[in-house]
Amino acid sequence: IMRKVAIYGKGGIGKSTTTQNTVAALTEMGRKVMVVGCDPKADSTRLLLGGLAQRSVLDTLRTEGEDVELEDVRAPGFRDSMCVESGGPEPGVGCAGRGIITSINLLERLGAYDADLDYVFYDVLGDVVCGGFAMPIREGKAEEIYIVASGEMMAMYAANNICKGIKKFAMTGTVRLGGIICNSRNVDNERELIEHFAEELGTRMIHLVPRDNDVQRAEIKKKTVIDWDPTCHQADEYRTLAHAIEENDKFVIPKPMTQETLEGLLLEHGLLDAA
Ligand code: ATP
Ligand code: MG
Repeated sequence: IMRKVAIYGKGGIGKSTTTQNTVAALTEMGRKVMVVGCDPKADSTRLLLGGLAQRSVLDTLRTEGEDVELEDVRAPGFRDSMCVESGGPEPGVGCAGRGIITSINLLERLGAYDADLDYVFYDVLGDVVCGGFAMPIREGKAEEIYIVASGEMMAMYAANNICKGIKKFAMTGTVRLGGIICNSRNVDNERELIEHFAEELGTRMIHLVPRDNDVQRAEIKKKTVIDWDPTCHQADEYRTLAHAIEENDKFVIPKPMTQETLEGLLLEHGLLDAA
């Protein structure tokens, strides 16, 4: 059965980078994976495609009408990963979240969700607070959510808000939280802080991905680190994360925190000075 994964997290936290590097590791393990970028920037598959961006679903629909074929919107990337960019509505017109559902519906109609797919990954922009970006989980398109966070307060604040959204839709649907991916910003006590944060949310830190400039070195070459240098240390970090996701069986309805609890946690780990 196909696992329907979505990656959420604060803007700029590392969702697209982490998704593509993890997908590269999964393809190395022989898994068949499709990535669906749900960001109007359409940069969710660049490292898998080596920069050769395919046309976004919404752009193709606008220019070709309904007469679209799967090959028009889905391109093969690193090790036969399959890459789709939803794209965005025309600026100032329409809801980006609605566009995501339009794209997913079209992909379904075109048979993109092959029976032999092991995973689909949705790389979703923004916090769930905005209704549009909750679409994939609201409509049951994504069932397994990972939140990318770091020990920086705003990243944790966003992660907690995303949990509020997941909880809301989990009550009546199949969506569950699979864990927190710590994408390190080298904050003091970051591992303990995020482990504790995850525990408070009723989940766990599934892996801590170190901050490593090899990510940028690979990015300049339009590659994941696994493609760029499969022997580098950071490649192993993404392999570890991919295995943790593959073996994960802890899927929960999260327990979002109050602002006071979140601040208490930051105080406890020495990141805020008590006023
Ligand atoms: P957006 O919300 O804009 O879509 P995002 O969450 O997808 O952003 P990315 O584009 O993946 O974030 O990452 C932002 C930048 O952070 C990237 O250019 C990448 O080089 C860098 N980055 C991400 N993870 C790491 C890491 N572990 N080590 C070093 N650099 C990283
Ligand atoms: Mg992104």
